[in-house]
Amino acid sequence: MEKMTYALITFGCQMNLHDAERIRGALHARGWSECEPRYAEAVILLTCCVRESAERKLYGRLSSLKPLKEKRDTIIAVGGCLAQKEGTRLIAQAPYVDVVFGTHQYPHIADLLEQAGGGAVCSTALSGVRISGIPCSRLEEFRAWITITHGCDNFCSYCIVPYVRGSEVSRPLEDVAEEVGAHVAEGVREINLLGQNVDSYRRKEEGKSRFADLLRLLGSRYPEAWIRFTTSHPRDFDLAIVRSIAETANVCEYVHLPLQAGSDRILAAMNRGYRRAEYQVKVDELRRCVPGVSLTTDVIVGFPGESEEDFAATLEMLELCRFDGAFTFLYNPREMTAAADLPDDVDARVKQDRLRRVMEISRRLTSASLRGEVGSEQTVLVHGPSRKDPRRWSARTRNNKLVHFQRGEVNLTGVFARVEITAAGSWSLHGELKEILG
Ligand code: SF4
Repeated sequence: MEKMTYALITFGCQMNLHDAERIRGALHARGWSECEPRYAEAVILLTCCVRESAERKLYGRLSSLKPLKEKRDTIIAVGGCLAQKEGTRLIAQAPYVDVVFGTHQYPHIADLLEQAGGGAVCSTALSGVRISGIPCSRLEEFRAWITITHGCDNFCSYCIVPYVRGSEVSRPLEDVAEEVGAHVAEGVREINLLGQNVDSYRRKEEGKSRFADLLRLLGSRYPEAWIRFTTSHPRDFDLAIVRSIAETANVCEYVHLPLQAGSDRILAAMNRGYRRAEYQVKVDELRRCVPGVSLTTDVIVGFPGESEEDFAATLEMLELCRFDGAFTFLYNPREMTAAADLPDDVDARVKQDRLRRVMEISRRLTSASLRGEVGSEQTVLVHGPSRKDPRRWSARTRNNKLVHFQRGEVNLTGVFARVEITAAGSWSLHGELKEILG
């Protein structure tokens, strides 16, 4: 087959951005090359369906590709969570789509695109996901994302992920370590371990090494790279993991631990598997064992049946846990989930008001957390020129806070540096370069 060109447009979370790297890797291995959508022989949309807004965006973007189909007979392919959920319904709604591929089909993307032309292809089987040995074409030279678990078995009542990504599968420890080794040998400075729930890594396999052991192993084998991970689950985030963060020098002091709600009644209705008191014990232990740790969270407001008292319990937990940041969401029912059968009974105006109140507290906590860094000297990894002000560098501290500082002549992208924190803004820090560490 002659060389083909593709364009890839990605929606949604970090998991999808990394899936995009693997789709690129699979296509490049078959001789495809990337270009802009208007010149591409195939345009691939990688979709998300966790929130309704992502779904709306996808359909908007899809219709904007219709003229390309009409003018150049471009192959239009839609993959990812929404494709998994919709399957042939997507083709019925947008008949100019040639290929629909689900979340277990990424390694077969080249075959699927090459089959296009003989009628629409829909491949959404959720069995036998392959997460090892998939070539990956990294978007950044200095940072790598590595899937350690795929899918989820938790069935939180509001969440569609288990239905569209399938049951949880963990990669073998040595397989993860080998991939990390290959990235580090290529000069990667920061490794990000990815999973819907990294803390349950290999939990199903009796006697096997778990997440805490993985952190220790990677820490001792590759001490030159920073190690981060996302996402944690409060039920499975245990003291062994806290200790491995505390005792492994290159595991960064940052944890994202989604609380979702502060009331035990709502946590039970969400099927989260923990109570607020357990959550708080873990947070206290984390803060005690890992000095300087930064802790962020997710909060959903307006879950079915959430009373003012339940909501007050969420606000109270925000203050008690002193989060460094919180991502806040309005509940909206997702098809297929258990919560979609509950009456969505919190008034829209009440939901909006609760969102405003939760965001107000979260902003105050974030500002206080940032102000607490002023005057310190920190090692940062420089990500590149700031998008807002290219005369400054954007970098992240070990505890994942964003720092901006003045650019000089030398290119510092992907370099570790020492920076003195001189001021705090609402969402980021300002600093002065003290030393380039290389
Ligand atoms: S842990 Fe819960 S919220 Fe997270 S992906 Fe699994 S089901 Fe969804």
